[in-house]
This record gives sequence, structure tokens and C-alpha cells, in this order.
Amino acid sequence: MTLKDEPYYVQGVLGGDKRVVAKTITLIESSLSSHQKVARRVINRLLPETGKAVRLGISGVPGAGKSTFIESLGTMLVEKGHKVAVLAVDPSSKRSGGSVLADKTRMEKLSVADGAFIRPSPSGGTLGGVARKTRETMLVCEAAGYDVMIVETVGVGQSETTVASMVDFFLLLMIAGAGDELQGIKKGVLEVADAIAVNKADGDNVKNAERARRQYENALHYLTPASPIWKTEVLTCSSLEADNASVRRIWDTVLEHRRRYVESGALVSKRRQQALDWMWSLLEEGLKDRFFSNPKIAARLPQIVRSVENGETAPTVAADELLFSLDIQ
Ligand code: GDP
Repeated sequence: MTLKDEPYYVQGVLGGDKRVVAKTITLIESSLSSHQKVARRVINRLLPETGKAVRLGISGVPGAGKSTFIESLGTMLVEKGHKVAVLAVDPSSKRSGGSVLADKTRMEKLSVADGAFIRPSPSGGTLGGVARKTRETMLVCEAAGYDVMIVETVGVGQSETTVASMVDFFLLLMIAGAGDELQGIKKGVLEVADAIAVNKADGDNVKNAERARRQYENALHYLTPASPIWKTEVLTCSSLEADNASVRRIWDTVLEHRRRYVESGALVSKRRQQALDWMWSLLEEGLKDRFFSNPKIAARLPQIVRSVENGETAPTVAADELLFSLDIQ
């Protein structure tokens, strides 16, 4: 990729030019420091134009029906005149093969819609790195005029809580299982969900889905709601209905949540807190990176590790010695 200057990206994004939006995201995803420098300046310039979108996070196991749901919701919103961007957080994804989320081939109709922009997960890297790129990509899309941001993730590791920490509304898509309905879901995930939708509630599966819905509702009774103004909604959903009724109901839930959050001022404080949390996590990550890439540390580390292993140096002494041999300028 040839590096252009800052105004090229800024003006192109503000003008809503999809090609420039895509190039700016590629810049953000690049690991070259020259690209990173320009990317940072571009994002800072775009920042005043961000924050106006409804930010919706969606998680669910592979096969839960995420892409079908997003295709259906996204198409409905585009038809209403919204501009919808679909992004993904999947630290396991590789561009070649693997489970690439928000893949265009998985959302055939939406991917060709004028008002939609779909971007797969940044490939490889740590969850922190992938999340940072997705957050910045979200800002770029908002500056380009996308007013609904959908961030998709599969429930691997901490990815659901990471996505929940970058959106206004977090939706968990579930499927009714044969056995214990709560199997496989970590308690923490239910706590961060603003809504749980038992998906594929159609055909022979309607009763199962309704039963699962009630079980989730019961399970939630034992949890304290994350916010005093919102109690996790539990719904059933089918993306296959011709009239989209249940998908619309979920969108209405998102809007009701937004109304309450805006009116009470909770949206502003939630986003403020998210921005601060993001800064702290960048700082922690950056410190760690600088620590391990420091030549003094790299030179000392193997020997110190060995001496802790052999019981010659106490872990506290070793950690102190390493920390204090690092000059942070
Ligand atoms: P993802 O891996 O979570 O993105 O799941 P997909 O959207 O690819 O869906 C997995 C499978 O479930 C596909 O075969 C879909 O056709 C099917 N599916 C998705 N949504 C529904 C639904 O609402 N009802 C039914 N019956 N099948 C669905």
C-alpha cells in the first residue's frame, strides 16, 4: 500500500468515500510505524465527527446465526435509510481460511447494499491488538457517516467482554440446546448482555426456544443488573421470518435502551468510562511492549528467569531488578 498524506484520508472519510474508508482501515491495521503515525493523526482529526452512531455488539457461538441475523437486521436498517457498518473482533482469524467474521460472502445482500460497509476481523494478533484496530475502525466508519455500527464476535476467550466494552448495547445470540440451556456460557457474559435472544425460534424449534428463553430469564433473576436503568431483555428470534417481526422487536429494544440511556445521561457516562478504560488498557499494553522490546531487558531476561527457576533469586527480587533496569524516558 502506498502511503498518502493525512488530508487524503481525512477528506475521503468525511466525504463518505468507501474506497478511502477501506484504505484508512488498512492503514490502521498496518504494523508499519510510518503507517501507524499517519493513522493516529487521521483518527485524531476525525474524532470530533465520531460518536453519533448506535453501537451494537453481537456475540454467539459459531452457527448461532449471527451473520444471518446481521444480514436481516442490516438490510432492514439500510432500507429505512440508515448507513450500517459491520465489523468483527476475532483474534483467531487469519485472512486465509479460519473463521473470518463479518465475511462478505456470509452477508450476500447486505454486502452489495449502498448504505452498508462490511469489514472482516483484523487478522491474527492478540485480542488487545485486534480490539484496538476494531475500535479505531469504528471511529473511522462513524466519521464517514455510518449511523449504526455492528460489531460481531464469536465467544472465544474474553472477546465478548471486550466487544461489550466498546459498544452501547450488547446482544447475545443463543440457540436452544438439548440439555442444560446454560451450558457453555460463562456467567460474566450474561452479566454484560443488554439482551439475550434465543435464535432460530421457528418451525419445530419454537417450543424449545421459548423454554430456553424462560430458563435464561430465570437465571437472570439471580444476577444483579449491570445498570439500574436497564434489565437484560430475554427474547426469542428468527431471522427467517418474511416480515422480520422478531428482528424488528430486537431493534426496538435497542432503541428503547438508547432512549433511556440518552435521557438519563447514562450513555455519555458509559462512553466516557469506555474511553478511559481503553486508554488505560492501551497504556498497559504499551508498557508491556516497551518492556519486552527493551534491549537491556532482553539481554538480562534469560539469565534472571533461570536463576528464579533454580531458586537462586526470589521472584520479587528478580521482578524488581528487571523493572528498575528499565529507563522509561
Ligand atoms: P454464525 O456462524 O453465527 O454466523 O451463523 P450463520 O448465520 O452462518 O447460521 C448458521 C446456520 O443456521 C445457517 O445454516 C443458517 O441458515 C441457519 N440459521 C440462521 N438463522 C436462522 C434462523 O433464524 N432460523 C433457522 N431455522 N435457521 C437459521
